[in-house]
Amino acid sequence: EGSSSSSVIFKRKPIIIIVVGMAGSGKTTFLQRLVSHTQSSNIRGYVINLDPAVINLPYGANIDIRDTVHYKEVMKEYNLGPNGGILTSLNLFSTRFNEVVSLIERRADQLDYVLVDTPGQIEIFTWSASGAIITEAFASTFPTIITYVVDTPRSSNPVTFMSNMLYACSILYKMRLPLVLAFNKVDVVKHEFALEWMEDFEAFQTALDSDTSYTSTLTRSLSLVLDEFYKNLRSVGVSAVSGVGMDAFFNAIRDSSEDYMKNY
Ligand code: GDP
Ligand code: MG
Repeated sequence: EGSSSSSVIFKRKPIIIIVVGMAGSGKTTFLQRLVSHTQSSNIRGYVINLDPAVINLPYGANIDIRDTVHYKEVMKEYNLGPNGGILTSLNLFSTRFNEVVSLIERRADQLDYVLVDTPGQIEIFTWSASGAIITEAFASTFPTIITYVVDTPRSSNPVTFMSNMLYACSILYKMRLPLVLAFNKVDVVKHEFALEWMEDFEAFQTALDSDTSYTSTLTRSLSLVLDEFYKNLRSVGVSAVSGVGMDAFFNAIRDSSEDYMKNY
């Protein structure tokens, strides 16, 4: 193949889905669910694991960072703790990420989606140079959508909800790619409260006022910021465990990829 990365032509397919979210929000379990959904729906998926520290992967990955970078050895070699080891492993992997993109380009005709799992701790991917390199490598070649997995039961308090949404907002701001919020674990707590708060500013204010005496102007201003943020994303309720919400999720991804083609 003679094509260099500088002569890459933007391709419509596959759609890249990068799954991010707080540790324990359910990224890996969600990936497992997405993989089984694609397999049973004749959707052609390709799966990439970027978490070097995961011990048991509950899905079969086509590309697994653990095959090329051994994070325990990286820790020893560079005298690092666990987070430094994961970050350095991702840095090492990102230096050859153009090879991953080329591999996907060669298979583009046979693929609908590329599903990407990221390290447990969110900032290792969202606030690192390697996360940016990987994201940009994808986004310059294929429509790329960020999926922010929310732990719905842990976001039912309005203050926690607001901090989580501000974090999602910072990711949108930093990555500048379409964002889909996947309210996960709806088998435990339904996500309707979240939709109501996102659609109805007054309802959120009421919840906030009754929850805290700290009703400062800052809190009010922040919820105005969020109101604007909500207009720029799609949200769906899902359960990685029960499998609820998969069709809605893929619809949101398809709509977001149309936005991508128009705006990015
Ligand atoms: P990650 O750190 O974001 O990759 O999260 P994991 O996929 O490892 O999941 C963290 C925990 O949440 C595990 O105990 C999962 O079984 C649990 N979990 C993930 N998704 C769901 C869900 O949809 N419903 C319930 N009840 N638990 C979930
Ligand atoms: Mg994980």
